[in-house]
Amino acid sequence: MPLVIQKFGGTSVADPERIREVADHVARTVRHGNDAVVVVSAMGKETDELIRLAGDVSHVRPGREMDMLITAGERKAMALLCMALHSLGVPADSFTGSQAGFITDTNHSNAKIVELRPDRLRKAIDAGRVPVIGGAQGVSTDHDVTFLGRGGSDTTAVAVCHALEGDACELYTDVPGVFTADPRLVPRARRMGAVSFDELLEMTATGCPKPAMRSVEYARRWGVKLHVRSAFTWEPGTWVLEEDPSMEQAIVSAVTHDTGEAKVTVSGVPDQPGIAARLFRELAAVGVNVDMIVQNVSDHGVTDISFTVPKDDLVQGTDVCQRLADEIGAVGVSSDSDIARVSIIGAGMKSNPGVAATMFEVLAGEGINIEMISTSAIRTSCVVREGQIEQAVQSLHSAFGLDTV
Ligand code: ASP
Ligand code: MG
Repeated sequence: MPLVIQKFGGTSVADPERIREVADHVARTVRHGNDAVVVVSAMGKETDELIRLAGDVSHVRPGREMDMLITAGERKAMALLCMALHSLGVPADSFTGSQAGFITDTNHSNAKIVELRPDRLRKAIDAGRVPVIGGAQGVSTDHDVTFLGRGGSDTTAVAVCHALEGDACELYTDVPGVFTADPRLVPRARRMGAVSFDELLEMTATGCPKPAMRSVEYARRWGVKLHVRSAFTWEPGTWVLEEDPSMEQAIVSAVTHDTGEAKVTVSGVPDQPGIAARLFRELAAVGVNVDMIVQNVSDHGVTDISFTVPKDDLVQGTDVCQRLADEIGAVGVSSDSDIARVSIIGAGMKSNPGVAATMFEVLAGEGINIEMISTSAIRTSCVVREGQIEQAVQSLHSAFGLDTV
């Protein structure tokens, strides 16, 4: 019998009516002759609320207790969904991450899966029952409850699909699939029928919010077939698949954007071996996650280094640079948080010259100045003024022929 993993995000199970609808869909899946395993997120905005609640109670928030608190959200959702399934005559059992066999490291709030022992899930399936698993959770090698981090339910679903050799992993969400651009910015964005793992990874790394990047990495590594789709229309969504080498590849498949980063520039840095190593080692040591890095050609033995960091890390990143500036003999440090990044992504870029040139021409035509550029084999990104991001995304989306007609 085909085995389908179905993951439902927070909005999909936000209230009793939604939970009953999800149960109805699961029941139908089973009645059509499939085995099903379900993964649920916490209801609606519950994870945010639990985090807020913790802040209201105390400014001391031990990781162990935070994880215990947050994972309660998924626990509530999974028990309620099981009840709804029972009322439809579908036998179902809820499982915490620990009961489902998720062993993780001890890194609270962002635990990594070290092993999955799905024996209990398999037994339940063999007994004709539907396991309903609380997403984004596990038990650590120290036997404590752990949380896999925001968006971790996607990873739970992919890991279960891999471990049980499922036929497909369906990620149900509040949008009909993966789009060629954010539909809130680009009303003429299209739902993609299919996208390759490589393209989706680049998209999630440059601003496409769903599915969680980590789950896409996991799925690519193990070849887990993903289907991103809507729990509101129940229509087929976007398939995420291995690239098909026999097919002609789109030059540009999507335009993404990210307004969550800021830019730091260290100017007048001596052009000597070891300076960049020193700077970025110190940034890494305090947990600042650096992204685009650009270094100029040196002029009279000095150069400028610019890089982007998440806005939340800006103060810390600037502090580190300022502290180091004297030691490494840099002239100054400046920062800018009014930036945004626009990226074009397409597997066909590898074999087609002039794609970057077209991107720059389109932006120039809109009077948009490019402040930084970075590329990968299948992506070109530009940093522009934040206030011009909408215009940048829209113009690129139509210039590369992605608009719906
Ligand atoms: N509920 C958690 C979150 O919103 C984890 C998840 O469901 O992915 O991030
Ligand atoms: Mg979620």
